[in-house]
Amino acid sequence: MNRSKDQIVSVGFPVAIPGVFDYILPEKFEGKVVRGAPVLVEVRKTKLWGVIVQFKDSSPCKKLKPVLEIKTGKWTDSNRSLIELYEWIASYYQCEIGKVFKPVVRKKLMETAPKEVINYRIANPEVGNLTPRQKEVLTGLLSDSAHEWTGPVLQKEKGISHSLLSALCSKGALVRERKTVIREATELSRGGEKMEICLTTKQEAVFSTLKRALATPAKPYLLHGITGSGKTYVYIELAKTACAMGKGVIILVPEISLTPQTIQRFKNAMGDVIAVMHSRMSDGERRDSLEQVVTGKKRVLIGARSAILAPMDNVGLIIVDEEHDSSYKQGEMEPRYNARDTAVMRGKFQQALVVLGSATPSMESYHNALQGKYSLLELKKRVGIARLPLVEIVDMNAEHKENNWTFLSRLLHWRITETLKKGRQIILLLNRRGYSVSLICKDCGHTYMCPNCSVHLTYHRVEFSMKCHQCGHMIRAPEVCPKCKGEHIKYRGTGIQKAEEYLRDVFPDARILRMDQDTTRRKGAHVSILESFAEKKADILLGTQMVAKGLDFPGVALVGVLQADIALHIPDFRSSERTFHLLTQVAGRAGRSDDTGEVIIQTYFPQDPAIIMAKEHDFFGFFDREIESRKALFYPPHGRLARIIVQGAEEVRVREAIGRIVVEAKRAAPDGIILLGPSPAIISRIKNDFRYSLICKSNSVSLLNKVLARIRMGPVKKMKNIKVIVDIDPYSMM
Ligand code: ADP
Ligand code: ZN
Repeated sequence: MNRSKDQIVSVGFPVAIPGVFDYILPEKFEGKVVRGAPVLVEVRKTKLWGVIVQFKDSSPCKKLKPVLEIKTGKWTDSNRSLIELYEWIASYYQCEIGKVFKPVVRKKLMETAPKEVINYRIANPEVGNLTPRQKEVLTGLLSDSAHEWTGPVLQKEKGISHSLLSALCSKGALVRERKTVIREATELSRGGEKMEICLTTKQEAVFSTLKRALATPAKPYLLHGITGSGKTYVYIELAKTACAMGKGVIILVPEISLTPQTIQRFKNAMGDVIAVMHSRMSDGERRDSLEQVVTGKKRVLIGARSAILAPMDNVGLIIVDEEHDSSYKQGEMEPRYNARDTAVMRGKFQQALVVLGSATPSMESYHNALQGKYSLLELKKRVGIARLPLVEIVDMNAEHKENNWTFLSRLLHWRITETLKKGRQIILLLNRRGYSVSLICKDCGHTYMCPNCSVHLTYHRVEFSMKCHQCGHMIRAPEVCPKCKGEHIKYRGTGIQKAEEYLRDVFPDARILRMDQDTTRRKGAHVSILESFAEKKADILLGTQMVAKGLDFPGVALVGVLQADIALHIPDFRSSERTFHLLTQVAGRAGRSDDTGEVIIQTYFPQDPAIIMAKEHDFFGFFDREIESRKALFYPPHGRLARIIVQGAEEVRVREAIGRIVVEAKRAAPDGIILLGPSPAIISRIKNDFRYSLICKSNSVSLLNKVLARIRMGPVKKMKNIKVIVDIDPYSMM
């Protein structure tokens, strides 16, 4: 049968190709693909995976190329609302629609093959004419508890040779087949015992409200539950209920708290229904996870931010744990979306219940709850007899006056000694990578800057190198000052490597684990550090913010924060909020069992409200104070913010470009928008590019979006080698 008309599809791309292109869909693919499905096409002579964003009958282009390959499955079909969500992301966060698909249609995901193994099973146990050895092997297999075996299991573990297996196959006793195996995330392979949950009365009250909402979802819920109040248990029960109703479940967790412990808890309670998605997985594992979700084989997805974009059918429940966490915002590349806010939108488009949970809700979410946009639920007590820990603040200035120049106060030093004696565990937080912040020549004052970026190089002692944490530039650490040839080079500021060295020195018998970006680079390292600590193979876990969140180790009696004010004075309107979150969260790691825990916070700014209120566990006090200052300055949640960065190698042209943008912005919205800047960005150079920034504030989201769309399309589009970044609801001000 001939088609009366060609079916044409518009395809968008997850890579830097602007716009969408039209292709002919060959007849053999017709009816097999949906909007949102990945297709392989040729663009500028290379083959690329893109996604169908539209079906049409005609195209303005004359000569269209055909679609070469397709992926079937429920990418978006049965609920078209998912493609509407993608369209919303593209328009709200100002990027090409193809880019929104990047996490699910990346080349590597599309091109990684399923994993196949050779599999054997018994076809006929009764076959005659076997040799004694063949008979012996067959009898052995018959009495084995398994019913099928992979080649390596039989050959390596059972010592059966390949030729023997071949003989058994040709005589018809065994069959040999190719079989696809699912590569699972490491965390899923470690099962534990089945866990039965019995909710406390407080948890039960929260659960039953949410259960009712699950049937007819309306507003999102904000669950404000202190650390250790058992939010996870409520999530698990709710997810079980949703599954029983036949609905899909997405659970978002910040990347670094997506630990084996978290995943195992869900697995032990829910069984084998879970798929996982995070950045430490291999391409193969990720491909298989995605496939399980797209084909509907797994109906519960636990993942970091990009999981919210997953093509899961009939989603009924979306949980965002630690909703305040800034890692939900993707700032580095397009789409610059916030997964929490996207979750709220997905819930709206797909009539799913959205639950945002945190011990320290973000200013935005708590404000929304007070305004009635979200319904508020609270868990105010820890489970059982566990209490919130006692927190003490130590003024490090006073330590210096008493001539203690080490970075451990006398109090913390003493408490560590005592805790070690009792055989309990300790978590120490120092949120700073490397050995020392910078090197300075005592003779001439020379400091070491990255030649490509306007930041100091950080000294890493192990490799005897200095690294730029912006661009990765690395040099050998100098032995003499390159400027004055002096030999008095001094380390300034303590990084986590220096802290580790010192701790090993003063507590030689303590077993210490360090957890930071540098020790967790290898695949699986993250998992094994946390497992060792959980199994009490270490006494002290020293880490950056990676150790602050979500961990539940009942053995931890003491938490120490070595320098609480590192983030406090970064010029960013969220610096106070971030400090409060970090301290409250890390303090929450202590005393999660019957003993009262203890927290010691060392700081040079003991009077700072964020620090004092974290000590008091006073979320409400912090919120009330912070909301006033946000109001006064028009910062979110009062008013919306967008940040524009213009980047380029020639400073004059960058200035010219941002100048044009300012003119365009003023033309597009003479009032209703406040412009701050333009000015050089806080990090004014990265990788040799000059950077200028402009902040736009407004009460009206639609006005802001109109202006940003004009900026993105308009004045500097034709300027060569000038890059314009538009970041809506930005989290980084650097
Ligand atoms: P949160 O996520 O709110 O910080 P968790 O869900 O990690 O709290 O729970 C804190 C601790 O309390 C965990 O060790 C957990 O096993 C325990 N717990 C929570 N709910 C219950 C319950 N209903 N019964 C018994 N133990 C519970
Ligand atoms: Zn650099």
